[in-house]
Amino acid sequence: MKKKALFLDRDGIINSDKTYIFRFEDIEWVEGIFDLIACANDRGFLVIVLTNQSGVAQGMYKESDVIELHKKMNSYLISKKARVDDWFYCTEYDSERRKPRPGMMIEAVIKFNIDLDKSFMIGDKESDILEIDGPKTYLLQGKYPLENVLEKGSAQVFASLFDILEKFKSETASNL
Ligand SMILES: [Mg+2]
Repeated sequence: MKKKALFLDRDGIINSDKTYIFRFEDIEWVEGIFDLIACANDRGFLVIVLTNQSGVAQGMYKESDVIELHKKMNSYLISKKARVDDWFYCTEYDSERRKPRPGMMIEAVIKFNIDLDKSFMIGDKESDILEIDGPKTYLLQGKYPLENVLEKGSAQVFASLFDILEKFKSETASNL
């Protein structure tokens, strides 16, 4: 049977977007993220991070820094009873994997046999609305302008992760 997934952007959704984060010491967890991940775990969703990390292409940090950071974040999340199943990152600008292009999501679909029609994507930028059919996209209003999104109605916009959690709960209640 196909699986359903909650896809999460990283910067701005899991940790505060302070631009080019690569050290665990600099991680500030976004309020509500542990509850959101734990809820998805409980409801049988895979939780998969999709993150653009062009800081590598710019030479600001190394790919090994990204891998190390994700390992540490993973351990911390587990200590908070929030399980992330996989982390996909894109280090390049010119790549089919760089959001909004859907390469990373397609890789996840193939790796885990995911049904995108039953899946969700949560991010904080217009580029988190991936160029692929299926997942419902919820955007958290953070530091990026989302007027275009509101105008086009291409995704629903929320003021907090708690609001997103409530929406996710109500959308997935019938699957329980
Ligand atoms: Mg982001």
